[in-house]
Amino acid sequence: MADTKINPVEELGTAAAKLRHTAAEAHGGPWARCDVGVAVISADVQLYGAPCIADRLYEPDADWITLAHPGLAEPLAAWLDDHASDHSTYDCGWDDSECPALSLAREINGGGRG
Ligand SMILES: [Zn+2]
Repeated sequence: MADTKINPVEELGTAAAKLRHTAAEAHGGPWARCDVGVAVISADVQLYGAPCIADRLYEPDADWITLAHPGLAEPLAAWLDDHASDHSTYDCGWDDSECPALSLAREINGGGRG
């Protein structure tokens, strides 16, 4: 049976690339929550005369979307890339099943629209 386990360095690099690509495609922001209709707005969007990118949201969802704006992508991607270096030199002190960076990478690689 072939070993289908993904290399941790590849997993981390794939997640970093996905973060960068997805953020590059999104509106750059900065994003903020607007209480009118519980909307998330971006400074670089002017749909129908307003900078709204999503509206009629559940308040905690709007807070989460605003928190996870595209500006978060590069610092996270850089951290994942840096941690990939630790895995390539066997310097990560975590078991692969418990490594926080790998857990994050797996969530990113398994989530979204691919
Ligand atoms: Zn690790």
